[in-house]
Amino acid sequence: MSAQAEAHVAQHARADRYVSTRADRDAPTVDFARALLDGLAGDGGLYLPQAWPRAGVGAGLTYVERATSVLDSFIGDALPAGAGAQAARRACDRFRHACVAPLVQIDDALWLLELFHGPTLAFKDCAMQLMAPLMDAALAASGETLLLVTATSGDTGAAAVNAFAGAERVSLAVFHPEGRVSPVQRRQMTTVEAGNVLNVAVRGDFDACQAIVKALLAEPALRTNRRVSSVNSINWGRLAGQIPYYLAASATLGRAPRFVVPTGNFGDAFAGWAARAMGADIGPLVAAVNQNDALARVINTGHYTRRAATPSASVSMDVQAPSNFERLVYEAADRDGGVTQAFYSAFARDGEARLPASVHARIGADVSAVSIDEAETARTIAQVHARTGQVICPHTAVGVAAAWRTQGQAQPATDTPDTPTVVLATAHPGKFPDAVAAALGAPAPTPPQLAALAERRETLVVIDDDLAAARAALEALS
Ligand SMILES: *Cc1c(COP(=O)(O)O)cnc(C)c1O
Repeated sequence: MSAQAEAHVAQHARADRYVSTRADRDAPTVDFARALLDGLAGDGGLYLPQAWPRAGVGAGLTYVERATSVLDSFIGDALPAGAGAQAARRACDRFRHACVAPLVQIDDALWLLELFHGPTLAFKDCAMQLMAPLMDAALAASGETLLLVTATSGDTGAAAVNAFAGAERVSLAVFHPEGRVSPVQRRQMTTVEAGNVLNVAVRGDFDACQAIVKALLAEPALRTNRRVSSVNSINWGRLAGQIPYYLAASATLGRAPRFVVPTGNFGDAFAGWAARAMGADIGPLVAAVNQNDALARVINTGHYTRRAATPSASVSMDVQAPSNFERLVYEAADRDGGVTQAFYSAFARDGEARLPASVHARIGADVSAVSIDEAETARTIAQVHARTGQVICPHTAVGVAAAWRTQGQAQPATDTPDTPTVVLATAHPGKFPDAVAAALGAPAPTPPQLAALAERRETLVVIDDDLAAARAALEALS
């Protein structure tokens, strides 16, 4: 592109227009409603706003105000006026804590950002509760309806069922592997009574569910009279909904805190990167992974390789293909979609790929990454409990262990031992009672809302690992 054309794009780049991470700089853009309803871009890339807006970073805003301003800048005029504010209010009303995401200090310079006060006790509620009303608004504007199909190993399905139950224009089908999600996670999905939600237990594993969902998404017959999409973490709506808590935490602490983020698909961590790009006072970002360390390896060495995921105590982070990393690659390549395209084509073809040296260097300057094994995760749960009396979930423990290990080491050198560090506490420990009990040698506390689930009636259909059976099950959804 000529310098003149480049200046033209920069001048007109807008936060409410979306580009694919695999597209040319001058490719056509889509609006917020389209990015939200499509999920994945047509070329297989992920959507990002064409430019980062400036955020309302000042102290003194409520969470609702902060979320509204973030959403409004990304929505532009793609939805009727007030849609962002309405979604933010509705979502925040469903949290049990007045601050939505409170900061709790557990050590001299260490805070937990508690993201688990929503209906299903994990951080995915933060964004999913915003996405449901926004999708309804987008569909109302275009007069369409939407079928969402998704595979889950637990947390995503629970958050989605809870957020979309009763949505006017969305039906949701969630496929989980029978007997392979925890009883708590299953009940969080199956005890919600709503005509627009279908829970399907598949006699197979998570990959079988994923394969069924992929096959369904590819079926043209499903698209008669409606849109079909999915709610996984590559959706821009999920990312946008995770930015407000970074802004809130950084405004509360002042002094550019370091953020340590327990990571699977790199969605939550990329939201922190985005908050910094939007002007929030955010110091070093540390991505903390469990023994499934593909993300840490590519960040530390520039070499991305395919490996199978091994089950860990922090199950929601058992990911070896961190999908949102693509957004960071695109940014680090100066938004050259050709670089992203080449990297991911090579990976798809060869099962491995190397980042160009300049892209790798930029990524290393922005984010560092640490892998924490199972023994250290368990030890950290016990140590935090012994020192503070606080019980943390295994995902949060991976974050705390990474924070302790990297204290004072991260770049830039402004990071000193008394730099405030914020670890994102991504789930309530009561959701993972077995892992917590094993680490503490005593049962984890059960929050009352989880205890109450055992009393409620479950609704689900059980099918064989078979596409025809999945199709037949979907008939139950209007
Ligand atoms: C999904 C999840 C994560 C990982 O989030 P990503 O956005 O995939 O990095 C971490 N902790 C918990 C409890 C989760 O449910």
